Amino acid sequence: MNIAGYGNQWVCDLVPYEPGKPIEETARELGLNPGDIIKLASNENPLGPSPKAKKAMVAEIEKAHLYPDGGGYRLRSALAEKHGVAFENIVLGNGSNEIIELLCHSFLKPGVSLIAAEHAFVVYKLMATLFGADYIEVPDPGFVHDLDAMLEAITPETRLVFIANPNNPTGTLVGQEEIDRFMSGLPDHVVAVFDEAYHEFLEDAPDAIRYVREGRNVCVMRTFSKAQGLSALRIGYGITSSEVAGLLNRSRQPFNANAIAQAGALAAIQDEEHITATVKNNAEGLRFFETAFAERSWEFVPSHANFVLVNVGDGDRIFSGLLKKGIIVRAMRGYKLPEWVRISIGTPDQNARCLSEMDKLLTS
Ligand SMILES: *Cc1c(COP(=O)(O)O)cnc(C)c1O
Repeated sequence: MNIAGYGNQWVCDLVPYEPGKPIEETARELGLNPGDIIKLASNENPLGPSPKAKKAMVAEIEKAHLYPDGGGYRLRSALAEKHGVAFENIVLGNGSNEIIELLCHSFLKPGVSLIAAEHAFVVYKLMATLFGADYIEVPDPGFVHDLDAMLEAITPETRLVFIANPNNPTGTLVGQEEIDRFMSGLPDHVVAVFDEAYHEFLEDAPDAIRYVREGRNVCVMRTFSKAQGLSALRIGYGITSSEVAGLLNRSRQPFNANAIAQAGALAAIQDEEHITATVKNNAEGLRFFETAFAERSWEFVPSHANFVLVNVGDGDRIFSGLLKKGIIVRAMRGYKLPEWVRISIGTPDQNARCLSEMDKLLTS
């Protein structure tokens, strides 16, 4: 038998995650200059990283010969203060993706289940598969999480329920009332995970952290990859009960959050100017796209995040057509939405160039 035949079945079953196409790779394939390519495919910050974070990271490089603070003292203290929770309620991750993995490490195995919405962030399904657990997908009418139905779907074997709020790739949000009703019905053998990667873009954000303060089985995840523009650094965190945090800390590698990332993140949370500019650029860009789509009668999902999902008839065709013009967006076949593409909000110039190329592809 080939060695792969001895691999764990649940690993063999895994369909690898397909990230947004990198700029350098696209440039090589098309023979274009990387500077002429725009990437609106991974919900990154089009204004770049926080300048304060950049400065802090450059300074931190002087200490690159030393292992990071594995306990993340300074960053966790700052985050605890920011969120009004205790130091031990914060767990750092190599991106918030790692927090997802640590939760699965801690709670999943064959025979137990993870619940998520039908069009939820695809990493939840990958992780459930990786740990040999059952993945229960709950319909989300109108692309909005149906928390009542998700509560109904819980069985004695369920350990994790993931609620991406706002969700990626749909950009939809569930409100405080739904969250409160969900939490009042949540049984004690289940952890509710609120994935809030796009929290900074919300005007009137619901509060799930209050349930951590109340000692409930909740993990709220945040990341520095989106509004703070530090995707390359891989840093995110969970805000969770000390009991769950204890399990996550046992599951993680000792130095999972690197020192440069910790320094950058610490500076980024103090850079309100950058966040404000980012949120403003995003609101304007989102309005630009949504107005244009409405004018053209292209179906779209009104978004609360830094991207928008739009029905273009044949997502693969529009993805390839835009790619040839040096514009990278995300085709949605992997999410069982073959008619749709997801476009991350860019700078005003990037947005205008993307729309104009879409016009050529869709009206000819
Ligand atoms: C982008 C994203 C993440 C975060 O990824 P990182 O690992 O922190 O870069 C998590 N959840 C959702 C829903 C996302 O869209």
